[in-house]
Order: sequence, then structure tokens, then C-alpha cells
Amino acid sequence: MESGERPRAAVIVTGSELLTGSITDRNGPWLARELGELGFQVAHVLLVGDRPDDLDAALRFAVNSGCVLVVTSGGLGPTADDLTAEVVASFAGVDLVLDDDMREHIAGILRRGWAARTEFSATAIEEANRKQAMVPRGALALPPVGTAPGLVVPRPGGPLVVVLPGPPRELQGMWPTALEAPPFRELLAGVPAAETRSLRFFGLPESEIAATLREFDAEMDLSGVEVTTCLRRGELEVDLRPKPGAAVFASELHGALAARHAKHLVSDDGSTTDELLARALLERGWTVATGESCTGGMLASRLVDRPGSSAYVAGGVVAYSNTAKTQLLGVPAEMIEEHGAVSPEVARALADGARERFGADVGVGITGVAGPDGGTEAKPVGYVCFCVTTGDGLVLARDPRLPGGRSDVRERSTDLGMHLLLRAAAPRRAE
Ligand code: ATP
Ligand code: MG
Repeated sequence: MESGERPRAAVIVTGSELLTGSITDRNGPWLARELGELGFQVAHVLLVGDRPDDLDAALRFAVNSGCVLVVTSGGLGPTADDLTAEVVASFAGVDLVLDDDMREHIAGILRRGWAARTEFSATAIEEANRKQAMVPRGALALPPVGTAPGLVVPRPGGPLVVVLPGPPRELQGMWPTALEAPPFRELLAGVPAAETRSLRFFGLPESEIAATLREFDAEMDLSGVEVTTCLRRGELEVDLRPKPGAAVFASELHGALAARHAKHLVSDDGSTTDELLARALLERGWTVATGESCTGGMLASRLVDRPGSSAYVAGGVVAYSNTAKTQLLGVPAEMIEEHGAVSPEVARALADGARERFGADVGVGITGVAGPDGGTEAKPVGYVCFCVTTGDGLVLARDPRLPGGRSDVRERSTDLGMHLLLRAAAPRRAE
């Protein structure tokens, strides 16, 4: 490892079904985040099929690019295409040996599961059991969460290879045990703490952050901090990862960026909008009700995604037709007639109606043209009206034209709805 750099790690995700696009990789991103939080620099996340040569090539690629740790996912099961243990053993220059304790352990799991069902062949089960208990010599086997044990395989000269099962639930369940395995613990002892600082902005284009960084760069040396920006859910997330020894500078830079763009700052401590909103509603003892048209319940769904949301979500109505708007939320038919179903007036009436019908403290109304049809010159596709009203008289209204196709417009509307609710519930942000 060069001084001033973080130790590098690679993730190798195996599974031919991931390459055909039939399932989406959930382990690569999960492991990358975990490793980043532990203080590694994640150099690569590689996706390979269930072919020994390709897995071997990926392992060699990780060594050649200076990785001290490789974490693999998948290919630990009993079938012929499950060959990770074999390939990793040969990569580490050792053979596979039967781990008797592990075989007994797996046999116990199988007896309680499949083997209890007599229609399956006992021989096949015994073979599967035996295959899964084959461990590279000198490696540590991690107890299965499903039926496949994980492996921690030291290789002379490095890297350390941590082999985990493919099903995300099993992989995540095994991770804490893997971290406790002595060879992994020893490696971690030499990894400097991550000290990542985050900023979250709403309504700020990436180009603004880039311009600010260019300006700062002219005055000071920014090379000690890796800055990454990511647009997600309409928010700009900025992560500052100091190289070892640059934590104080990273913290100053974090403060300077937050101050420069204070108007758009949502959080400077990694808290998400959803967390902040939940906290704000709980602190006020408020309940929220939704009256949604074009988002079709996505905002209500987002609100109840959080455990414990029953403390502050009263309910919501998907009022898609004009009749539903009138009958369920009391939007006057004449108002719809006069201003159109997509109008600031109707958004307000949806918010008030939801708040009143549910006896909530804050109501939100959303009505818009999601497209692809139905746009007019005055109200084009992407034109969405929002309104948040509270029992104590606060009214926040917006009617932007959101970019993108139907699903983009609906997703962005949900994001904007969350932000308006946060503005209404967090006192210092009220307008
Ligand atoms: P098993 O004993 O279940 O075969 P395994 O370690 O051999 O475990 P795989 O055969 O690679 O794991 O994958 C089993 C299943 O787990 C896959 O069919 C898929 O449904 C899920 N899975 C595997 N890898 C991933 C991944 N990276 N992302 C999401 N799901 C995955
Ligand atoms: Mg398998």
C-alpha cells in the first residue's frame, strides 16, 4: 500500500444469471458500501459468470491491481455450477479437504430441512452435503446461514479471500461472523477508519458543486480528499473520503461546502430526507395525510416504508378520477371545471381535503400530467402541482415542470412531495 492511500479491496460477484440480466446484483453494492465504511478503497466490483477460468481471471485481476482483500459472492451451493471454493483453493495454491465438523453441521441442517422429506434421494443429499463441506486447506469455514458455509482463505503474499454465499439474506447474515474471523480481524486492524463525511442537497445542480470545488481547488490542495457526487431521488449526495491523515481537512471542506450551499442543504450528517421527516413529525407529534393523483399512492408508500410510521401516517387517498377527487376529498367539481384537475387550486384542495378527512395535522396534495399523453401547451407533460397545508395555516405550493418520462415524473413528484413535507414539518425550514 502506498502511504497516504487506503488499502484496496475488490468484490467479485459470481452467477451467470446476473450476466443474462435475469436478476439484478444486490450483493456487489451492499458489500462495496460495507467495505467503504470499514475504510477500504473499493477498487473494483466485478461480475463474472459461473465459469472457473473467468473467476480465476477476476481473482488475478484483483491481485494485479494491488487489492489486499477480495470478497466473493455466490457459487457455494451443492450443484455442479457452484465452483467458487474449488477455484479459490487453486488460486491460493492449496487443495480441498473434507471438514468433518462442517459436514456434521450441514448434515444437521439438511436433516431438519430437505432430508426430512422422504421423496428426495438420500444419496444425492449426502453428496451435496459432502461437496459443501470441502474446505481449502488452511482456510476457516464460517457456519452456514442457509446450507453453504462461507470461507476465509488466506493466500501467501495476499490477498485475503472471503467467500460468501449468493443469496443476499445469507450473505448479509454471514457478514458479521466473517468480520470476526481472526485473519479478517487482523487485516482490519491495519485499515484506517473511513471518516467519510456526507452532505445532501436538494434542488442543487451537480455543476454548482463542481464550480465550488474548482474555486476551492485554486486556493487549497484538495488532493487529500476523494470527493464523489451522486444524484439520487432528486438529491445531490456529496461524499468526502479523506485519505489517511486528511480527516481534519476533510471536515473543513465539508463545513465550507455546507456553508456555501446552505440554502439547498438537507443534511450534513448523512441523515436522509425520509429520516429527517420522520423525526420532525414525531417531534411535533403531527400526523400526515396524502391526497394523490398522478403519483397513485407512491408518496403514501414511501412514508410507510419506514418502520414505526404508524405513529405519524394517518392515511391517504389515491384520487385519480375527478369524481374521486370530489367525492372522496371534497374537491369542488366547479373548481375542477374552472381550473382543470391539474392546477394549483386542486392541489391545495386535495391537501386540505386529505388533512380534514383524516383529521391529520399536515396534508399534501399532488396532481400532475405524468404523460406521455394528455399534455397541452399550458400544461405540458411533467407539469405537476403540489401543495402542503397544515392545521396552523401554513401553505407551501409548487408547480414545476419535471423532466423525463412517465415513471421519472412520478418518482420525482414523490421526492418533491417528501421535501415539501419536510419543509413544513421542520420549523427552521418553514417559509
Ligand atoms: P445456493 O446454495 O443457494 O446455490 P450459492 O452460494 O451457490 O447458494 P448462487 O447459486 O450463486 O449462490 O445463487 C443462488 C441464488 O441466490 C440465485 O439464484 C439468486 O436468486 C440469489 N443471488 C445470488 N447472487 C445474487 C446477487 N449477487 N444478487 C442478488 N441475488 C443473488
Ligand atoms: Mg448455487
